[in-house]
Amino acid sequence: MRNKLVRLLIDKGIRDRAVLKAIAQIPRHLFIDSSFEDFAYQDKAFPIAAGQTISQPYTVAFQSEKLALQAGQKVLEVGTGSGYQAAVLAAMKMKVYSIERQKELFDATRPLLQKLGYPVYMKFGDGYAGLPNHAPFDGIIVTAGAPYIPEALLEQLKVGGRLVIPVGQNTQDMIVVHKDGPQKYRQENLGEFRFVPMLQNKNA
Ligand code: SAH
Repeated sequence: MRNKLVRLLIDKGIRDRAVLKAIAQIPRHLFIDSSFEDFAYQDKAFPIAAGQTISQPYTVAFQSEKLALQAGQKVLEVGTGSGYQAAVLAAMKMKVYSIERQKELFDATRPLLQKLGYPVYMKFGDGYAGLPNHAPFDGIIVTAGAPYIPEALLEQLKVGGRLVIPVGQNTQDMIVVHKDGPQKYRQENLGEFRFVPMLQNKNA
């Protein structure tokens, strides 16, 4: 079933071998509520705890590819959710840091990633602030729909790095921000996607 999913992703235009290899390996069914297990290898998003979703495999593959990172590089993810996207980046041998705003998901996903053997540094906190203590990052990926591009994430990116972020309210444009110099940014718009919102000013 995983090989079939990989072929579908190739048909949809994913080319990065490391991304495809990671998706071919990772047991996505373990990241999904067991009542949806049968659907785990369809190219679909699914509900997880706390009213959130696990992103569609195509979206995970697309964002992972657009980061354009190599094994050993440092990446920050905003929105750990189920942990599937983080597992893909870890399987690509990146040093993965991930922030989650929902305590319920943070508490469930941390032991899951550990149990499955994906080394991901997880933090319960607000993605708008990034992770200043571990910055700078070679790449940053946001997996929730952001109303705007958070300044802290731009600052925490290395020169030469990319921020891959869906920006917008109801639907989002996938924006890639290239950091060309300490204060020099260039944006690319890669088209429309749909994400759950990146929460602002959430209490507790
Ligand atoms: N990458 C996840 C996608 C989860 S959906 C996966 O592969 O499953 C987006 C996630 O972003 C949700 O878990 C949501 O709780 C989280 N999120 C929303 N606002 C956030 C914020 N301000 N900071 C960090 N995480 C946030």
